[in-house]
Amino acid sequence: MSKRPWGYQPLPERPEPTWSLHPDTHAVRTGLARSGFGETSEALYLNSGFTYGSAEQAADSFVDEVDHFVYGRFANPTIAMFEQRLAAIEGAEFCVGTGSGMSAMFAAIACLVKSGDRVVASAAMFSSCYVVLTEILPKWGVSIELVKGNDPHDWARALAKPTVAVFIETPSNPMLEVVDIQMVSDLAHKVGATVIVDNVMASPVLQKPLQLGADVVMYSATKHIDGQGRVLAGAILGSFSYINEKLNPFIRHTGPSLSPFNAWVLVKSLETMSMRVERMNSNAQIIAEFLETKSAIKTVRYPGLKSHPDFDIAMKQMTGGGTTIGIEFTGGKSEVFAFMNALRVIDISNNLGDSKSLITHPASTTHRRLTPEIQAEMGITGSVLRLSVGLEHSSDLLKDIEQALT
Ligand SMILES: *Cc1c(COP(=O)(O)O)cnc(C)c1O
Repeated sequence: MSKRPWGYQPLPERPEPTWSLHPDTHAVRTGLARSGFGETSEALYLNSGFTYGSAEQAADSFVDEVDHFVYGRFANPTIAMFEQRLAAIEGAEFCVGTGSGMSAMFAAIACLVKSGDRVVASAAMFSSCYVVLTEILPKWGVSIELVKGNDPHDWARALAKPTVAVFIETPSNPMLEVVDIQMVSDLAHKVGATVIVDNVMASPVLQKPLQLGADVVMYSATKHIDGQGRVLAGAILGSFSYINEKLNPFIRHTGPSLSPFNAWVLVKSLETMSMRVERMNSNAQIIAEFLETKSAIKTVRYPGLKSHPDFDIAMKQMTGGGTTIGIEFTGGKSEVFAFMNALRVIDISNNLGDSKSLITHPASTTHRRLTPEIQAEMGITGSVLRLSVGLEHSSDLLKDIEQALT
């Protein structure tokens, strides 16, 4: 009964490289834990449960005295491969995968705060993040203050009162507002606050918040990390002490765990992420420049354009303008809907960061949960579209936009 199937032999240990690897090498190599079958690619361990060689080993595993997988809510070999790989790419000590971007966002903050605590956040953000900060956390006695823009005086004023956490989404979804991560982190650290950056729009390829002074980075891995419209997932990255002392005790017992199957999809997606994001980023730059020449369009919001109000900050902290463009038309909602319906290549969708170009009308879909006043504060009107630029050839995307405009 205990005989192993044909060909199973524990692999010999190989010495680690003596130099530090480039993130692109981490993306295909790090975290790979081959089984005794010596498979080339990462194995899918679709297991929630694990067994032990002895009662003692089980007991020791539960107090972390031996490294042994215990239960799918805590850890799983395929999920661990994804977490180690993303941590290496990001340059973070630790990564925890979660079931969605929103569970990552919620857990990253909820593990830090208690009733009476205060959170400061940048004002422009994805609508579900806004609901968590302004409706859900306040129900439990956590107060929130939002800061618009990049004036250090405004941030210093908001951070003059005791603050536990600072949450910044930069660039923001959908209007690509940029927040100076270094400036906010320096001010936040003076009052002992933990700085959490929602780095979804930039992706791990174009912006490294931890190198700019932030403490924690969170992702919706549904976006560029998968980037192919297949799985819902999230990730939280930070220091050993944050993950071990704050996040893990919260996550282990509340259970926003990632599925091993989704982790397996993501670990393969990470291998191509930098190639995909770099091409999507260069396509987006071409399209943003083209859109600026069009009279039907009032403003093009793209961090890689000189016309972006925070172009200098964007170029200081990002290695490209990103893959998403905010477009404000001169016409109203009916003209904008007519433009969307006339597209022949670009899909109407509410997702972003995908290899397929996707167009969204945030006011009626992704951001409809916000009141018209709050939408207006974030620059979202009926005339605004969000274009997530994909991997199609830029010439086809330009032709598609050109014909839909006329
Ligand atoms: C999509 C998104 C999220 C939420 O991620 P899900 O995977 O959909 O839960 C959070 N923040 C930003 C900026 C997003 O675009």
